[in-house]
Amino acid sequence: MRALLQQVRDRLHVIEDHLTVRTQIAAAVAVMSVVLVGTLAAGAALISYRNTAALIESSLTATASTASGRLDRFMATRQQEMKLFAEMQPMQTQWQGDPVALRSSLENLQRSFSEFAWIGYADVNGDVVAATGGLLQGKSVAERPWFKQGLERVAVGDVHEAILLASLLTQRANNEPYRFVDIAVPVRDTNGDLLGVLGGHLNWDWASNLIKDVEANDGNADATLSILSKGGMVLLGPQKETIRYGGDELARIVKTGAGTFRETDNGEQMLTAFHVGKGHRDYQGLNWIVTATQPASVALKAAIWSAQMILAIGAATALIALSLAVVVSRRIAAPIVALTREADRIGRAHGPTMLARQSGSAEVVQLSRALRSLLRRIGIAEERTKEAELRATENAMQLQEDMLKLRQLADTDFMTGLMNRRSFLAVADDAMAFCRRYKRNMATLMIDIDHFKKINDTHGHAAGDDAIKRVAEVVNQSIRTTDKAARFGGEEFVVLLREIDQETAVLLADRIRTSIESARVSHDNVVITLTVSVGLALFDESDRDVQDVIERADQGLYVAKKTGRNRTFLMPAEDQRAARAA
Ligand code: GH3
Ligand code: MG
Ligand code: MG
Repeated sequence: MRALLQQVRDRLHVIEDHLTVRTQIAAAVAVMSVVLVGTLAAGAALISYRNTAALIESSLTATASTASGRLDRFMATRQQEMKLFAEMQPMQTQWQGDPVALRSSLENLQRSFSEFAWIGYADVNGDVVAATGGLLQGKSVAERPWFKQGLERVAVGDVHEAILLASLLTQRANNEPYRFVDIAVPVRDTNGDLLGVLGGHLNWDWASNLIKDVEANDGNADATLSILSKGGMVLLGPQKETIRYGGDELARIVKTGAGTFRETDNGEQMLTAFHVGKGHRDYQGLNWIVTATQPASVALKAAIWSAQMILAIGAATALIALSLAVVVSRRIAAPIVALTREADRIGRAHGPTMLARQSGSAEVVQLSRALRSLLRRIGIAEERTKEAELRATENAMQLQEDMLKLRQLADTDFMTGLMNRRSFLAVADDAMAFCRRYKRNMATLMIDIDHFKKINDTHGHAAGDDAIKRVAEVVNQSIRTTDKAARFGGEEFVVLLREIDQETAVLLADRIRTSIESARVSHDNVVITLTVSVGLALFDESDRDVQDVIERADQGLYVAKKTGRNRTFLMPAEDQRAARAA
């Protein structure tokens, strides 16, 4: 379970990472507004629907109740009239008097209440003494229920057909059978002795007129009223003469007395209100059930409309909330988007190095501030790094320079600036190897100042130094750049001549010698002249190393000294070979 929850949480995080703040806020508000407004609207719609439906139901019940009340009152009035008539003082003489006069009185009564189809008076035996229109006069009604009941009390008989009477009455225009409601009243003399029964047949048409009147005047459109007997038989209205409700359904209606229920009629939902008549004053009532039926779609139209309106307002509210959410979320996200875009540009070629201040919310202002501060700190750190790098580079360069200088110092003779013995030998070694491999020529000169001790002694050590420097200068100027000259110690110099044949080497050695001879060294206003002796040796295949060549040049120098100085002597290789062999 926990693993599943974690999985759902992870999945949500993945989805969140792909959604912009804008979308997330809009979605959250959308869900919230749909849930909130949806719940509110649905609740309000339901309450409104119920209230409106209850109002409509009570209005429909009121219609049924009005019709029922009017029916009862009508019947009670008719019953009262009959009773009053039977008890009227002037009538006392007539009941047992002239039947013609009685008939006339009965007809007067009928004229004043046109709903009476027939009014007659029968004696205690059931023989009709007098009747309106003379109908049934002389006939026996002893077996009629109304007569039997009328002998005992004021009685009302439910709707029925009266075939005998109907046959005597004129045919109705629509050929429908006559239906009557009976009212029977016992007639007594002043002593209270029973004389007979006054009976009246009320034409049922009045009820249909009453119902039509109620239908026309009530506020419920399309409401259809029906009158049902207490047995559930339709007395008036659609499905006449059929049992509309029976069993438990009928029992419930009668027990409740008034109310509403829903039913289906031909597949259509109907709303039916009912009211059971309970009589009026003396009138006991026949417990007629008045129903008012309306198609549910018509009856509850207002209720449905109000519910729909509330839902529509709810949807509109949700839509407005959503639009606002979109606008607000865009406003909230805008500075973050701007910050991101700017931050993305920072550090790229020619891009800005600082963020613009952003506003929109306290968090954004803070974030913008923090980022700007961060960038400043990065800038400082970068500058420091650059400085350190620069310093390191400078140090490295200085070191290289120093190294170079040191090497030069190590390779150079301090006084003359020529190569020293060590560096010269290294170069001479390489040159020697090159000559050997490629069969090239090279030569070495060994130069020594003549009678140098005497110069030192005569002019001083410093003058001797100047003389050494001057000789070095002349030597250096006389050779090519590819040739190398070195001070080997004291006033002795060695020169390495590359790519040179014997003749040129002799010429060059002699030119050096004569150049020095003609050079003048000035020291303390004294001009000193000097000469050098030069030993010359050419590279020979038999030489084991460069020392052999130098040694041969030294031998040449020795010969030059010995033979008078200020001269050049080429020491041939053969002599050395011979000397080595010996
Ligand atoms: P020779 O013609 O036979 O060469 O005679 P020489 O007097 O030149 O003899 P040698 O070459 O043996 O003498 C070298 C002298 O040079 C010895 C020393 O006093 C002097 N000397 C060596 N080095 C220096 C130096 O650096 N400065 C000076 N002023 N004198 C030096
Ligand atoms: Mg010397
Ligand atoms: Mg010397």
